[in-house]
Amino acid sequence: MPAPRTPYQMREAFGTILCIAAHPDDIEFTIAGSVARWTREGRAVFFCLVTTGGAGTNEHTPSGDGLVPIRERELHEAARILGVQEVVLLGYTDGVVEPTLGLRRDLTRVIRRIRPDVVVCSDPTVRWYANEYLNYPDHRAVASAALDAVFPSSETRGIFPELLTEGLEPHKVKEVLISGAEPADAWVDIGDTLAVKCAALKAHASQVGKGEWVDAMLGEWAKQAGKRVGVESAEGYRRMILWR
Ligand SMILES: [Zn+2]
Repeated sequence: MPAPRTPYQMREAFGTILCIAAHPDDIEFTIAGSVARWTREGRAVFFCLVTTGGAGTNEHTPSGDGLVPIRERELHEAARILGVQEVVLLGYTDGVVEPTLGLRRDLTRVIRRIRPDVVVCSDPTVRWYANEYLNYPDHRAVASAALDAVFPSSETRGIFPELLTEGLEPHKVKEVLISGAEPADAWVDIGDTLAVKCAALKAHASQVGKGEWVDAMLGEWAKQAGKRVGVESAEGYRRMILWR
């Protein structure tokens, strides 16, 4: 596929962005360069993290309870580095998320409250990447529920009528950016924010240790994506335009 001539530049009018992910460090591994760019552009970026991250290592307690407060501190530090406005934590148990109606309702509630122009999530259809990574089931479950929450649940009055009684009116999301989609068709130039992305990922010390490898790994991923659009560093997405 020929690369488009210019990187994707989000419309100026899109002032509110909601990033939905399963685990406390998912955003920093994948889309944080874009997040930092968007916050620098003056947009309000919100994170919604579905699980506590309690299964992130096999250390601490068997239940993961010992890890949860550590991950919470780390994720707030990463969000601070990226300039994120608010982090919403849904508190689901790490490792066993399914795309239930309950999760879809919870995400619909968040979308109707924050009323984002753009929602960013991962690709629920990807079962594996290359020959070495089986996509984590929580990632697929959360992405699937997130897309279903965007459409049709958030914008449809008759779905989850209980949310109306909470004062949450329907809301139409205008664009969705799906990270990790193959093939991607929109690339955000992160040349100015790759270093911030690396710093934010290193805030997750329980997951990356001292993170000596972080700059090289994220740099290589960004370089590969950048080649697709003729810039040094990029993050790729499939872009869904739901409103013009
Ligand atoms: Zn994850």
